[in-house]
Amino acid sequence: MAGRPADGPAKKSRDNPAGNPANGLAAKLKLSLDEDQLMNCMRCGFCLPACPTYRETGVEAESPRGRIALMKAAFDGVMEPAAGFIEQMDHCLGCRACETACPADVKYGRLLEQARDAIEDAPGVRSGWARVLRRAVFRGVFPHPRRMRLLGGALKLYRRSGLARLARASGALKLLPPHLAEMERILPDAAGDGVVARVGPRLAAAGGEPVAKVGLFRGCIMDILFTDTNVRTAELLAEAGFEVVIPDAQVCCGALHAHGGDTAAARELARRNIRAFREAGVDHVVSNAGGCGALLVEYGHLLEDDPEWADDAAWFAARVIDVAELLLRRGRPLAFASPEPVRVTYQDSCHLRNVMKSSGAPRALIAGVEGADYCEMKEADRCCGSAGIYNITQPEMSGAILESKMEHANATGADIILTSNPGCLLQMKLGVARHGDPSRTDAMHVVDFLHERLRRSNVKHS
Ligand code: SF4
Ligand code: SF4
Repeated sequence: MAGRPADGPAKKSRDNPAGNPANGLAAKLKLSLDEDQLMNCMRCGFCLPACPTYRETGVEAESPRGRIALMKAAFDGVMEPAAGFIEQMDHCLGCRACETACPADVKYGRLLEQARDAIEDAPGVRSGWARVLRRAVFRGVFPHPRRMRLLGGALKLYRRSGLARLARASGALKLLPPHLAEMERILPDAAGDGVVARVGPRLAAAGGEPVAKVGLFRGCIMDILFTDTNVRTAELLAEAGFEVVIPDAQVCCGALHAHGGDTAAARELARRNIRAFREAGVDHVVSNAGGCGALLVEYGHLLEDDPEWADDAAWFAARVIDVAELLLRRGRPLAFASPEPVRVTYQDSCHLRNVMKSSGAPRALIAGVEGADYCEMKEADRCCGSAGIYNITQPEMSGAILESKMEHANATGADIILTSNPGCLLQMKLGVARHGDPSRTDAMHVVDFLHERLRRSNVKHS
């Protein structure tokens, strides 16, 4: 945090949005919120039908327009922000569907982050063990790849040593809130090693001269829970003619920090990632997780007021691309064939669609698989209720949104629900367990589905 000069109040900055830590939430909001964005909202309400929380409740305060009105009232000093204000900011999924519907181009996602930053920063607003635990995990574990791998190893041990069976059989899981006990069942087997341990730091392009040199963003949770997906992402890219490097100095993207009101931590992680990929000299930074990619693509904005990093952040952001988009746009054509007929549907990752603006590429790749019958799901562009850790912190609203989602998913008759983000994937698995038929329906990452159906050549690992 910036220090306070002797001759006046501390300067407001993104690392120190409040300037004076003694201020309450109202003062924090006054200093954090972007007045231009608040003023841009003309209250037309075009965003309301796009908003999942408004659609579930029909309550104006649960809509983007309502939340912006609350922020503006607090900013103007006509309302003292209290528990109701904080609750509405917490209820927002951060899916940013409202931005795509807004004719005035209101940057709602930025306003939300600024509001959450103020809430986290204001003294006495957040307290208790939940905040302490979250800070400890977000700052003490996620940014440290080695600690993440230790966590992955512990999860692996839990699953494979019989401890998981014991916990279930003994009823110990009943001590957890029901939604957490359900989650325990759908978590994949953690590998505990990570993509670099599997394939090395570099894969040579198949078929001669590389099309481009790309850096794989491996993620933090992604790399311990979905290591296989990371490996397959690297292999698909190499098959499509890309030289793939996986810089080992990269860290967590910072999305959970930024969305949870810890922008300072997100900025620090951004700097470390930019340095890692800059040094690797890549043409593209490839993400296979919509939630991570959406923050990576906004690093330019995140560090725009940092004179030392602004140019490098813009360099980095301009190179971020989702794996499906890159395969389709620049890769050598790959042939995919399903060994047996399969009906599939696709659930958009909100951040991939609404922030990275990619929705056609995954669909085009899936529909191009020989033997796959692609069926578009009604309202596939609506949030599934996962939203980072929303399904843990707001289980009721998340559960209601998931129930509607699964009605549409089940109506497609799909054997496999595909998606492009680990959080959405787990939520879809939860949805199948709760409202579907796990014996006939599965949920998969698009990369895993494509990789299983790839007609391969040869990829060299090094
Ligand atoms: S981010 Fe999503 S949940 Fe939040 S206000 Fe916008 S549309 Fe509604
Ligand atoms: S669509 Fe945009 S301008 Fe209209 S109410 Fe929503 S946020 Fe405001």
